[in-house]
Amino acid sequence: MDDLNMAMWERATTVIPGGVNSPVRSFASVGGVPYFVQRAKGAYVYDLNGRGYIDYVQSYGASILGHADPRVTRAVSQAAEKGTTYGAPTEGEVLLAEEVVRRVRGVDMVRLVSSGTEATMTALRLARGATGRDKVVKFDGCYHGHSDQLLAAAGSGVAALGLAGSAGVSQGAVADTLVVPYNEVPVLDDETACVIVEPVAANMGLVPPRDGFLEGLRRECDRVGAILIFDEVITGFRVAKGGITDVIIDVTPDLFCFGKVIGGGLPIGAVAGRRDLMEELSPLGSIYQAGTLSGNPIATAAGLVVLNSLDEPSYAMLDGRSKFLAEGLEKVISDAGFSVQVQRYGPLLSLFFSDHAVTNYAEAKKSVAGGAYPYFFHAMLQRGVALAPGPYEVIFPSLAHSWDDIELTVDLASAAAAQAWSSWSSKLVPTSKP
Ligand SMILES: *Cc1c(COP(=O)(O)O)cnc(C)c1O
Repeated sequence: MDDLNMAMWERATTVIPGGVNSPVRSFASVGGVPYFVQRAKGAYVYDLNGRGYIDYVQSYGASILGHADPRVTRAVSQAAEKGTTYGAPTEGEVLLAEEVVRRVRGVDMVRLVSSGTEATMTALRLARGATGRDKVVKFDGCYHGHSDQLLAAAGSGVAALGLAGSAGVSQGAVADTLVVPYNEVPVLDDETACVIVEPVAANMGLVPPRDGFLEGLRRECDRVGAILIFDEVITGFRVAKGGITDVIIDVTPDLFCFGKVIGGGLPIGAVAGRRDLMEELSPLGSIYQAGTLSGNPIATAAGLVVLNSLDEPSYAMLDGRSKFLAEGLEKVISDAGFSVQVQRYGPLLSLFFSDHAVTNYAEAKKSVAGGAYPYFFHAMLQRGVALAPGPYEVIFPSLAHSWDDIELTVDLASAAAAQAWSSWSSKLVPTSKP
C-alpha cells in the first residue's frame, strides 16, 4: 500500500523546514515520519492513509472539548459568515474578556493577542515598563513561547531538541533573563522586574509545584516589588473553571497569560490582570502593544463557546478520566518491567521513565536520557494511540475521550509497554556493558 504520509513528508520537507511549522510536531526526537492529519473528530485524528488514532496531543492542549466539536464548528462558521476580521472592536472581544474577568480571581482587565507567545511577550514588557526594571526570572524547563528573551533554557520542543536556548538569540536579549531551578524559591533583588512561572510545569513533562513554591514566589516578589506572572497558557481553563488560582487559593499573581484553551482551537492568547497594571498598556498608558488580528472575531467566537461549555462537572469528568488513565498507564508500564512515574495534576499527566518522582528539569532530563520514551511512543502509535512525539510533552485527555477510549488506551498500553520493554532492554544491554 502506498504510504501517503511518507509521500507528503517528502513534499513537506522540500518546502517547509523540517517538514513542520512548529518543531514539536517533528518526529526528530522519537525517529520516523510524522502522520499528517487529514481530519479529526472528538478523541480521534485520522491520517492521510485513513488510519485513526486516539489522540492525546489535542493540539497541545488547545482542544479541550475534543476535535470538531459541533458547538465550536457552528460558532466558527456563523462568525465567518459575518466577516473574518475588521480592524475595529467587536462585541465578541468584550464577551470573551468579560468571561475571563468573571472566571479568574485577580483579573480586572484582559488584552487579547493572537498566541501564547505574544501573551508572555506582552506580560514581560508590561512588567518591565511598570517597574522600570529589566531583570526577568524564569525557571529551567518552563516554556513561555518563542520570544528571544524567554528562550533561555526553555522546555517543550527546545528541550526535546537538546538546545540550551536557540541560535540567533543575542546575548543581549537574554542578558537580563535569569534562569533558576523549578520548585526552589529564588532570592530576588530590587532589580527584578518580574518572575514568570508555569504554576504547574507542563513543558518538561508534568511537574507539579511543591507545597509552598508558588506562595514563596508571591512573598519574594512582594518583598522586592517585583511582578509575579503566571503563565497559564496550559493550565488556564484546563485545571479548573478559573484556572490554577481556583486550586491554589492563597496565591494571586499580578499578571496572567492565557492561550491554547481560550481560543477553542483558533489562534488567540491573552494577557490579563490587575486594572492599575493593565491600564499602563497603550493606548491608555505608555507601554506599546498591538496586533492586526488581535481579538479576531472567529477566534473569540470559538473561545467563548468553549469557555461557556466548561462547567464544574466538565472538570470533574476530565479529572476522573485522567486519574484512571494515569493509574492504568503506571500499572501496565511498570508490569512490563519499566521504572515509571506517571505524574498528574488534575486533567494533565505525563510519563517519566524514572524510579523516583521528578521535581525539576535536571531530573526530567535524566529520565529522558534513559531513552525509553521513543520505544513506547512508537509501540503506542502502531496500536493507534497518538501521544506527543517528544518526551517532555504532557498527555491531554479531552472531554471527548469516552471511558471506552480511556480503557482501550490502557489495554493497548499494556501490549505496547511489553513490546517497548523488550526492544529497549535488549538495546540497553550492549551499551551498559563496560
Ligand atoms: C504553548 C505555550 C506557550 C506558547 O503559546 P503559543 O500559542 O504556542 O505561542 C506559552 N506558554 C506555555 C506554558 C505554553 O505551553
